Amino acid sequence: MSEAIHLVRQEFTATALVEVADRTEFSHSSSPPDNVASKALLRHGAIRLSGVPGRLHETVVPDEATSVNANELPDIVLLTETNASALLTQRLGRGVAAILPVIDATCRGRGTPDHRRADIAVDRASQRLIEEAVEMLRPAVRRLRSLPREVIETDDPRLMLLTRLFVRDRPFAPRSEVSARETFVYDDEAAIPGAATLAEQLTELGLLERKFVDKTTVCPHCASARMTVREHCSKCGCANIVQEPIVHHLKCAWQGPERDFRRGSELICPKCLQQLKNFSVDYDRPGSIGICLSCSHLSTEHKVGFLCLDCDSRVEARNVDSKTIYSYGLTSAGRACVAGGSPLPQYASISGRVRAFAGRHSALGEPCSILFARLHRPQGVEENGDAWRHTCVFFGLIMRESFTPETEIIEAAPVFLALLGRDRKAEVEQHLPQIRERLDRHLALAPKLELVVFSPDEIPGIAERPGKAA
Ligand SMILES: [Zn+2]
Ligand SMILES: [Zn+2]
Ligand SMILES: [Zn+2]
Repeated sequence: MSEAIHLVRQEFTATALVEVADRTEFSHSSSPPDNVASKALLRHGAIRLSGVPGRLHETVVPDEATSVNANELPDIVLLTETNASALLTQRLGRGVAAILPVIDATCRGRGTPDHRRADIAVDRASQRLIEEAVEMLRPAVRRLRSLPREVIETDDPRLMLLTRLFVRDRPFAPRSEVSARETFVYDDEAAIPGAATLAEQLTELGLLERKFVDKTTVCPHCASARMTVREHCSKCGCANIVQEPIVHHLKCAWQGPERDFRRGSELICPKCLQQLKNFSVDYDRPGSIGICLSCSHLSTEHKVGFLCLDCDSRVEARNVDSKTIYSYGLTSAGRACVAGGSPLPQYASISGRVRAFAGRHSALGEPCSILFARLHRPQGVEENGDAWRHTCVFFGLIMRESFTPETEIIEAAPVFLALLGRDRKAEVEQHLPQIRERLDRHLALAPKLELVVFSPDEIPGIAERPGKAA
């Protein structure tokens, strides 16, 4: 009889967190477990285990594994005391701590930081359960051992993330989490803080690829995705709306909500004061209407809006933000990077890109200039709303189409830069009216467009430019 092993993979679960549960009814009644796992261990060589914080007790180390000293590099780490995960980096160094497989043997169950940090959790720190957990991690250990030492000990957090995924052979994926403001979490961030941002950078470098998971509605004020949807009154904004049947007095043609006709058990027309007795002879009911119980406003179409549970803002549907959630898988280039141990290309900042551009042209003795464009958001348009974001995205497209294809465009909405090779500042300034006309012709929200041209020696001014309209 085998152990009960639960794969607690929820819908969006990122880590292949596995729980090995000890069923006491089996462990008492059955003979000692057969040694299939141990034989497999023998074939592939002993796996080196390290306990954190303390050295593992000899009685729990599986027969074919060894417990290593604190100064040796293990294959797998076991957390043996509550909050041990907080010691991993200090004990192993940042890179190794982020990459090595971890077994939570604190037996504290779900929801603890140790559990979130682990790849596998055991319910009881017995030799048998640890042996099974170790065996499940054997493929990960095999991949780990195939890697160059400098990759495992890297201090580049981007390479840590790639290597972590490579060793576990799985994507960087989110898990739904109602207690999180974003309503999902990437558990790998417990091992590599900021991993979600790194994943985006690695995608730009072609080392990870995104896969759509979900799209959440997000509060434009506080970025929380904990928003509830409600129908609200288009006049006063209150959600206290009820639907009521409409009564139509056939003789005088008056129609209104039933409450206006109701006098106890009778229906009396509020216009001509006649009593309505027979349905379809005196009156009919052509439909229903929403009534705001707060301001009595009648409407067949109340607005749909959102209430942010974190900051209490009421937000109209057209002003909500949205966030697309992705999982990120290694590309073949990403795998090659990890397996080969070559350093990753640097992710260039905006000022870095501008400086590199100016440097290239000055080395060639060519003139160049930088066109700075900033969109100023009109009043009443939410900064994080869909309408404004679409405007910025659209403006980025126009920027690209307005210059020659080889022109490098940097988008950092609402700021956009066009790096203009071979054009002097004075020449570009002469053409600013035409450039302006082309750029802001199609913008529906009519934002104010600020355009400034810089020469390469004014580059520091670009970075320090204050966010005010010129
Ligand atoms: Zn109202
Ligand atoms: Zn009437
Ligand atoms: Zn909010």
